[in-house]
Amino acid sequence: MSIVVIGSANADLVIEVDRRPAGGETLIGSDLVITPGGKGANQAVAAGLLGADVAFVGCVGADGNGDLLRRSLESAGVRTAGMATADRPTGCALIVVTPDGENSIVVSPGANGRVTPDLMAEHEAEWSRAFIVVMQHEVPLETVTYMAAQCRERGVRFVLNAAPAADVPGDVLAACDPLVVNETEAALVVGVPADAAEPAELGRQLLDRGARSVVITLGAQGSLAVLPDGTVVTHPAERVTAVDTTGAGDAFVGAMAAALASGQNIEHALALGTRVAAVAVQRRGAQASYPRRDEL
Ligand code: AMP
Repeated sequence: MSIVVIGSANADLVIEVDRRPAGGETLIGSDLVITPGGKGANQAVAAGLLGADVAFVGCVGADGNGDLLRRSLESAGVRTAGMATADRPTGCALIVVTPDGENSIVVSPGANGRVTPDLMAEHEAEWSRAFIVVMQHEVPLETVTYMAAQCRERGVRFVLNAAPAADVPGDVLAACDPLVVNETEAALVVGVPADAAEPAELGRQLLDRGARSVVITLGAQGSLAVLPDGTVVTHPAERVTAVDTTGAGDAFVGAMAAALASGQNIEHALALGTRVAAVAVQRRGAQASYPRRDEL
């Protein structure tokens, strides 16, 4: 059963520095490393490497970074017929990493801004027969809203990873099966301060607000799911030494989608997401850190 990931494709431009620069200051950093990223492309690659039938629908620029993204997706076995080329630069994330492993990131959406409802209508053949559509918040919200409605109408399973953190309109929430969020994102969607409620409670509140099911990722603490009947299932993370958690959440979402598309339930999907994310945190990069099925 096929997965269509609709979302962002970014080039990650990474420089390591001793500390963050102050305003007006110039620092000397490491050699520049350019790697394929963007939440949408990451999730598609994670699922593709596991052998799932995956297509990516998105937009890049007519530039070298666009080629980098296309190559990465295709070498993971992801179909890219639904990937448009815009007269804007490929989306880009400027990432500064300090020795404590902390990132500071500036994202330029560029061509991702062209992932519009019109583009969705143009590529309808790509997603209309999908089993699952997976989206995130790095493309315009009107596109997420449009696709949530289309998926509900056509009986396509809709998975939204509401990251980066942003509110989720009620009609979008009602389509999510599951909504996948971390704790911060969950609190924002519920409308309470971070740490105001336990994750399981946040999950139940998201279900009350209309989500069909909810998955909350908890970093090194693992993840939990709130099933349609309100049952909470928890899954611990693997105890590994993390060297780079960039794209771990995307690895988790892509692997979950692969499990769901192969007919497994949410609990099994959490298990595969956890396994794949544990491999991803032990290697550098986003897509570059994701395992093939035979490596698991
Ligand atoms: P996050 O987006 O940080 O919540 O992480 C997504 C998933 O990646 C978690 O649910 C874990 O399964 C896995 N993960 C993240 N950080 C770690 C870590 N330090 N060690 C092991 N697994 C991790």
